[in-house]
Amino acid sequence: MPELPEVETIARGVDARVRGDRIVEAWFSRHREPFKSAAASQAKGLAGRPILAVHRTGKHIVCELGLAPAEDTPNARSLGQDGRAAAQWIVHLGMTGRLLVTDPEAPVVPHTHARLTLTSGRELRFVDPRRFGRLEFRDLEKREGFAGPGAEPLTIEATEFAALFRGRKLAIKAALLNQTLLAGVGNIYADEGLFHAGIRPRKSAGRLTRAQLEKLRVALAEVLNHAIRLGGSSVSDYVDANGVKGFFQLEHCVYQRTGEPCRRCGSLIRRVVVAGRSTHYCANCQR
Ligand SMILES: [Zn+2]
Repeated sequence: MPELPEVETIARGVDARVRGDRIVEAWFSRHREPFKSAAASQAKGLAGRPILAVHRTGKHIVCELGLAPAEDTPNARSLGQDGRAAAQWIVHLGMTGRLLVTDPEAPVVPHTHARLTLTSGRELRFVDPRRFGRLEFRDLEKREGFAGPGAEPLTIEATEFAALFRGRKLAIKAALLNQTLLAGVGNIYADEGLFHAGIRPRKSAGRLTRAQLEKLRVALAEVLNHAIRLGGSSVSDYVDANGVKGFFQLEHCVYQRTGEPCRRCGSLIRRVVVAGRSTHYCANCQR
């Protein structure tokens, strides 16, 4: 499943290619699963709208959209009230979802669930073999903009970060995976962040000192930012908006390195299961 750096990489890649473009029309597959709002209303809502920007919120990709021009006044305002976006198209990639920008003649691969034709001639396509992804359209003139659950790990401040874990008895690794606390941190970056902070994954979240939590906050942000710079981690079938793989997997210190020597001290990396997830750590570097 793509985590924060992969989603950020995809959002940036899509933004670079479609910002300023306009949706001509949208086509959706007949499957029900990937559609959080009904496919027909999404198609109707998206048609004609300019794409103002594409960005990441938690593990969601949010396309900020303007107003579709009215037929009688094609040059009327394209922004919503107060000059903000008038609508959003929200994409959650789930386990296997991919959001791709393609040429119109690119073959339509199996499991394509959405095709947005753009004025430039390009297409924005959503492909998802397992259909755990979700697509949603929001008209911001009728309801609030998308704000995912959980705090943003790249910008959260020390006090707020510490407060997330105060009094929690569960393992810190499990707490990091809880998307209602921090958004976007999954198995890879929880393991890597804990390694760089020198904290054992099974340690009780509520027993970490303020200094340890601060080390963890900084380590997580560093690991996530470093992974974004490298285009994310390509494990299983993750690719960015161009279909290019990321390279952060080559720099994993502990994740999926069970039995291999720690890059820092040479001890063998161990694997345990925490919250039902494979968890990797160095017993020497993490206390
Ligand atoms: Zn070590």
